[in-house]
Amino acid sequence: MTGATGATGVAERLRAGGERPTPHRLRIAEALISAGRQLTAEEVWSAAGRRRGIGRATVFRSLDALVGAGVARRLELDGHVSAYVACEPEHHHHLSCRTCGKVEEIGESFVRPMAQRLADERGFVIDDARLDFYGRCADCARVAG
Ligand SMILES: [Zn+2]
Ligand SMILES: [Zn+2]
Repeated sequence: MTGATGATGVAERLRAGGERPTPHRLRIAEALISAGRQLTAEEVWSAAGRRRGIGRATVFRSLDALVGAGVARRLELDGHVSAYVACEPEHHHHLSCRTCGKVEEIGESFVRPMAQRLADERGFVIDDARLDFYGRCADCARVAG
C-alpha cells in the first residue's frame, strides 16, 4: 500500500478527478480501504453509513463519485450486483475472488501481450482496456482442492 490510498491521498485524488472530498466520501473511501476486499454497496452502507445516519442514496452517490475519480472501481458480481474496491492510481486490472471477496491488482504487463496480438492479428489499436478476472484466489483454490 502506498500513500495514495491514505485518507490524505484520497482527498487529493478526488479533487484531481473533479470531485469534492466531502466527509461522507472520505469516510466511505476509508471503509473500502480498511476492508481490503470488495464490498457491495449494501455492505458499504452497513459498514460506513447506517450506524452514522448516512442514507443509502448518499452512500450510493458517494461510491459513484469515488469511481468517477478513480479512487475506487466497480466490479460486476453474479446477479447484476456491483461491488466496489479501493484502487491505486496506476492503470491496472483485477483478480476478484468469488469465494472470499479478496481483490488483487495486476499490472498492465499481463494484458499487454493480448493487446499486441489484437493489433497484429486484427489491426485494432487498443488505447484503453478494462479487464477484470473472476474466480478463486490461490488460498481459496487450495482449500477447495
Ligand atoms: Zn484496483
Ligand atoms: Zn479467495
